[in-house]
Amino acid sequence: MNEFDLNRLVRPNVLAMQPYSSARDEFEGEADIYLDANENPFRSNWNRYPDPRQGKLKQALAKRLGLEAKQIFLGNGSDEAIDLLFRAFCRPGLDRVLTCPPTYGMYKVSAAVNDVEVLQIRLTSQFQIDVEALEPHFEDERNKLLFLCSPNNPTGNLMAKEDVERILRGFPGLVLVDEAYVDFAPEGSCANWIDRFPNLVVLRTFSKAWGLAGLRLGAALASPALVAVLDRIKPPYNVNSLTQQLVLEALKENKVEEMVAKIRAERTRVAISLSEMPRVLEILPSDANFLLVRFENAGEVFRSLRERSIVVRDRCKQVPDGLRITIGTPAENSRLLHAIEQILQPDYSIH
Ligand SMILES: *Cc1c(COP(=O)(O)O)cnc(C)c1O
Repeated sequence: MNEFDLNRLVRPNVLAMQPYSSARDEFEGEADIYLDANENPFRSNWNRYPDPRQGKLKQALAKRLGLEAKQIFLGNGSDEAIDLLFRAFCRPGLDRVLTCPPTYGMYKVSAAVNDVEVLQIRLTSQFQIDVEALEPHFEDERNKLLFLCSPNNPTGNLMAKEDVERILRGFPGLVLVDEAYVDFAPEGSCANWIDRFPNLVVLRTFSKAWGLAGLRLGAALASPALVAVLDRIKPPYNVNSLTQQLVLEALKENKVEEMVAKIRAERTRVAISLSEMPRVLEILPSDANFLLVRFENAGEVFRSLRERSIVVRDRCKQVPDGLRITIGTPAENSRLLHAIEQILQPDYSIH
């Protein structure tokens, strides 16, 4: 990629604006008495604003990922990073983004909120990137962002790295690779390409493999220049103190590999059991913590599971006959399998 000029892509108002400067931005370091942020002194816990730059957390995360802290943007879930990317790079009513359905629904929602048109280029029948169908759209300068999701939600598969690389070389806008599930298939990550490709943004989250969905922490890994653009427009205190503290502890604890191994083993067990059942049309190969399973009568399976107090995700609109089943604990998975087996029995009368 020659001569990448990030500022060409940034919205002019974002380049021109003066970012908010918080009390914590204007005074760094330690003091005895803090009378600069209108905080309440009569509590010893949580009365102070969080570190707006998330310094300690970024250091710890950088170490774990083999990156520099300035290559990491942290947000209130990766959904915040997605929204900020729209706001930083897409002029409402003018610019467009490319997505590859069936995929994660938030890209479209965020686009709609920001009044940005979405061009949808479907994945191939194997749920891989249709590079040839995307390429003609590379010419149009209004196409600012291209969303890829690997492993993809809801299909579960990694995208071929050669295809991602071809797109990074050809697309003049930003390529966002959403790696929400990559902890389940670390070899599939593109994170170590951010030094090579200034137009690459890798999205990560603590909501899935790390098991911390309730804390809301997501990351965008990218060039320091791009991270700086997102930092300009983020709400100053977007990651709260409790989240910063608990995620730091989780990083020290380092239990993620152990949990990932258990989930992967259970995923194999669930897939094998399902493959032996009648009326199961297809189990898509998964690199994530869920299986997309196609049933002869997915709607009935969904409702019958619901009656047994088991909720899965109906994805029939994205993938015909498809239910997305998250891998649970061994006991939960056993109960699920038992229920599906009952529901799918040839003499089971569907009601
Ligand atoms: C779950 C998920 C996310 C996570 O979003 P958070 O806001 O970090 O919880 C992002 N992308 C995809 C594809 C997901 O499935």
